[in-house]
Amino acid sequence: MERNMNRGTEIIMQGAEVKGTLSTPEVLPIYLTTAFRGGADLDELNEYYAVKGYTYNRIRNPNRNALTELVSYLEGGEASMICSSGMGAITTTLLSLADAGDHILANSNLYGETLEILDVIKRYGIESTCVDFTDIEAVRKAVQANTKIVYTEVISNPTMAVVDVEAVARIAHDCGAKLVVDNTFTTSTVIKPIDFGADVTINSLTKFMNGHSDIVGGSATASKDIVDKACKLQALLGCTLDPFSSYLCERSLRTLDLRMERQLKNAEALAKALDEHPCVLKVNHPSLPTHPQHDIAKRLFAKGYGAMLSFEMPEDREKINAFMRRLHIAKYAMTLGGYATTLSYPILSSHASVPRDIRLKMGITDGLMRVSVGLEDVQDLIADFTQALSVFEK
Ligand SMILES: *Cc1c(COP(=O)(O)O)cnc(C)c1O
Repeated sequence: MERNMNRGTEIIMQGAEVKGTLSTPEVLPIYLTTAFRGGADLDELNEYYAVKGYTYNRIRNPNRNALTELVSYLEGGEASMICSSGMGAITTTLLSLADAGDHILANSNLYGETLEILDVIKRYGIESTCVDFTDIEAVRKAVQANTKIVYTEVISNPTMAVVDVEAVARIAHDCGAKLVVDNTFTTSTVIKPIDFGADVTINSLTKFMNGHSDIVGGSATASKDIVDKACKLQALLGCTLDPFSSYLCERSLRTLDLRMERQLKNAEALAKALDEHPCVLKVNHPSLPTHPQHDIAKRLFAKGYGAMLSFEMPEDREKINAFMRRLHIAKYAMTLGGYATTLSYPILSSHASVPRDIRLKMGITDGLMRVSVGLEDVQDLIADFTQALSVFEK
């Protein structure tokens, strides 16, 4: 398909057809099949498998393939690998790009399990060091002769620090490394890291991409060379996304921009309202002029400032409990990026293992609550948080 229409049109059309071999239903059906039949005899096998390309579900499936095309379009990359989780995409990408003896330079402020996998692969000879990527000079100084991968997220949990992807890309390319950027918190509605020099964009499809809190999946988007190599390893590791989840995610992505635009607006309005609330000590959202990387976000982001925010209440466990019980709309959940607003409490989840003094230096107090802002009516959302926060009034 020629990629010359506007995003709003392409988001409906990309990956909607299985090319060639099948008739064309209005919506791609779910191919719940382990394998595809070969020809009637051995002479036809080549025609069926080599030409038509669908053989075995772990290798290729029409629903996953449709999702591949759509995600590649959204992120502005040549090709994508669709995995059974975000972690599957991250691990496969790292193992495909780095060999024993290579070094990975990573942001110290990453999704916890990404930091854990960096530790695990040390056992196989892949070194890594972490620095704070909001300090560009520190990134430059941490580069080594054997640095093969530079790895960061655009916005990181839970204080919503923003990384200057463009500056990091220059450092990575100066030393011949590949820049891998996890776009999960932002999505391509906000930023396409490939446009700013990233070589690979990772998404946990589980979060905003699928947006309906009903699947776990992940993607890596890059040049065809990088993706082809990663996909060979993926097939061996066996972490491909199943057809039903692929179907659900493909369907969900048709409305990615519509959902994100609403969630981005809601997040900005909720951040502002919380910032003005007398019982809130601090709000972390890149839309606020007081956010330390507000100007970077403004320069890099096409739309909005992400739909994740966090805010600090007084460190009073009983009152925080009362606040949570009083909220009608936002509920606690071990995920983010769904259509409904959800809460998480970093010191009991993502940063549970970080000692208190280090946490405090990172701005993670016992009063910090993270919010994944959903699609609700924003006036209702603000009113709900405001009434619940009244538990802190004297
Ligand atoms: C959730 C998440 C992941 C991991 O994705 P899964 O789909 O849970 O495996 C990676 N990075 C970020 C930033 C995430 O939020």
